[in-house]
Amino acid sequence: MSKVAIVTGGTRGIGQAISLELKHRGYRVAANYGGNDEAAQKFKAETDIPVFKWDVGDYDACAAGLAEVEKELGPIAVIVNNAGITRDAMLHRMTPQQWREVIRVDLDSMFNMVQPVINGMRDRNFGRIINISSINGQKGQMGQTNYSAAKAGVIGFTKALAQENAKKGITVNVVAPGYIDTEMVQAVPEKVLESIIAQIPVGRLGKAEEIAKAVAFLASDDAGFITGSTITANGGQYIAT
Ligand code: NDP
Repeated sequence: MSKVAIVTGGTRGIGQAISLELKHRGYRVAANYGGNDEAAQKFKAETDIPVFKWDVGDYDACAAGLAEVEKELGPIAVIVNNAGITRDAMLHRMTPQQWREVIRVDLDSMFNMVQPVINGMRDRNFGRIINISSINGQKGQMGQTNYSAAKAGVIGFTKALAQENAKKGITVNVVAPGYIDTEMVQAVPEKVLESIIAQIPVGRLGKAEEIAKAVAFLASDDAGFITGSTITANGGQYIAT
């Protein structure tokens, strides 16, 4: 029987590419999303991948949503924590709400999505957890103290969880994308985007599919000895040790 994978924010952008890549590789995929029903229904119609709406910043919503996915598709073997938002502002102008929104969606979601299903994975002696961080969590980015803190937190969370579950056949890893051509990046002003591309040694934005392939590798049986790692996929823009 094929494995069940849940992808948060799996109906748009990078998450959409991850959902499609995992489906292509034979997983039974569930795509979570937050609020954009139109995009989700279009995605469902085009791909035949079931969609599930809940807020990954809300623990109870995650627990209920994950239970629904398991009821419909079976025990979850792969979690891809991809959903994320930005609320950019320099700290001296940032509101408490901008801070909190990013921390809850980008970082609290890690706990909310994993805690309800980790015991099942431990019982079955198998799991793959892949968390999407960001180049800006690795190097810091002005205007993004909230986002940089959350995405750096994702890496710390991953390292600790990897150690806790290594003996149980569960691997936990990060993919840290650089600038990828999705709506999140298309929202960046053109002049700023030009200066960003100038800093990318490969000379272009990344493609969502390139991130999806890294995620799919970490989900595979071939990646069983890799845990607590961060794969950077940023065109050489920031080469972390
Ligand atoms: P998009 O804005 O294109 O898509 C975001 C996805 O997350 C959507 O499916 C959205 O759902 C979902 N989402 C947002 N908030 C919630 C929520 N509260 N609950 C559930 N789902 C939610 O983002 P990208 O594809 O660009 O980014 C995906 C991930 O990659 C993010 O974690 C981002 O931080 C990270 N990343 C992106 C980079 C880039 O260059 N694009 C670079 C580095 C990291 P809905 O459709 O309902 O709104």
